[in-house]
Amino acid sequence: MTPLGRTEPDRCPGVLAVHEAADGGLARVRLPGGVLSAQQLRVLAAAAVELGDGHLELTSRANVQIRALRPGAPVELSERLYAAGLLPSISHERVRNILASPLSGLDTHGRYDVLPLARDLDRLLCARPALAELPGRFLFALDDGRGDLASAKADVAVRMVDSQLAELLLAGAPTGVLLPPEQAPDLMVAAAEAFLAERAQQQSEAWRLAELLNGPQRVLARLGLQEQAALQHVPGEHLAAGAGTAQAVEACEGGPALEGEGRVPRAAVPRAGWVQDGVGVGAFVVGVPLGVLDGEQAAVIAGVAGGWESLGASEAVLRVTRGRGVVVVGVAEEDLTQLAGCGLVVEAESAWNGVTSCAGRPGCGKALGDVRGDARRVVPGWSGGQKAVHWSGCERRCGKPGGEFVDVVALASGGYSVDGVAMTVDEVGDGVRVQ
Ligand code: SF4
Repeated sequence: MTPLGRTEPDRCPGVLAVHEAADGGLARVRLPGGVLSAQQLRVLAAAAVELGDGHLELTSRANVQIRALRPGAPVELSERLYAAGLLPSISHERVRNILASPLSGLDTHGRYDVLPLARDLDRLLCARPALAELPGRFLFALDDGRGDLASAKADVAVRMVDSQLAELLLAGAPTGVLLPPEQAPDLMVAAAEAFLAERAQQQSEAWRLAELLNGPQRVLARLGLQEQAALQHVPGEHLAAGAGTAQAVEACEGGPALEGEGRVPRAAVPRAGWVQDGVGVGAFVVGVPLGVLDGEQAAVIAGVAGGWESLGASEAVLRVTRGRGVVVVGVAEEDLTQLAGCGLVVEAESAWNGVTSCAGRPGCGKALGDVRGDARRVVPGWSGGQKAVHWSGCERRCGKPGGEFVDVVALASGGYSVDGVAMTVDEVGDGVRVQ
């Protein structure tokens, strides 16, 4: 047991360092800002079909996972991803954890388009050899001012105050340090370097800034910014030995299919439908049932976005959201039939909205049931508009959302516990409706 109460080192998976799950290797591909081109989505989908189980899993950090990789497949996968521009650095692949507001630049609710900043931050991060030592859980975030990333509690973040100024946040707390947005990537990289230096000085094994003693204050001092800062105290900011680590461990053990440290409240993710108050392009939020894309669905999304891309679109045409959906740029009304026809969600009142699950069988050896298979069988029959619902294969409840949700947990005896009441899978819908 280590001083922070951990029994294992950081094992967040990457492309080469895959997690060995019950159904084979699980690779996680980082997508800084959640951004993908249509061609990159095609490459990922082909890799999933030819090297894995044929599916792409979207994560709560807006990344993508491929599972059931056979032995040796990670090498071929890494070559394909490198050629597609999805693996610019082998040494830094697990530390390119960068969230950005997925609707940035597409509507009038953001104060500044932060996606170019995410790109710059990624480039700077990969250019600093020392930053390859960041823990795989260390998280950056760029919030365009709409506040949709607050629940992520990123270690180093900026939030746009207006179109001219951004504020630095550390461990989820505002610091009072203001800067022009174009300077944000440099400062964020410097803050990450300060984290590593402070971690070494404290002889800590911290994965997150909040695990260091006075971490945000120490980082600000190392950056020479303490005079400007008005850091707000966050209760429990420093985690005592052993405290607060179980959740982080859970996110990567047993349920590596879902990245879940910053639980995503339903209100923080855009719902299926047209992007409201848009600024000129037809952008649409597509819901992906249980966050799992099959080959046909990926091909349809890539086809729609690819048409727009081929016209010379300057926007990032695909953006994975923390709610396991995809923002597709360049959608026309007639595309909706195609998107809906392959099982994607195009209506805000769909029964799938707010329904999440862990991996369950066969991917997780701890699972007591095939939660995804059961959910796919019964959820389409629900009327929609229900509370958030999370299906889990066991009591660990990996990937559960933030806020209130109906708790559906597989039972060893068969069937499910729905908020503590045993039911058959066909009765789960009744249990959800009467909440
Ligand atoms: S079965 Fe349990 S351990 Fe496995 S992914 Fe689901 S909740 Fe996590």
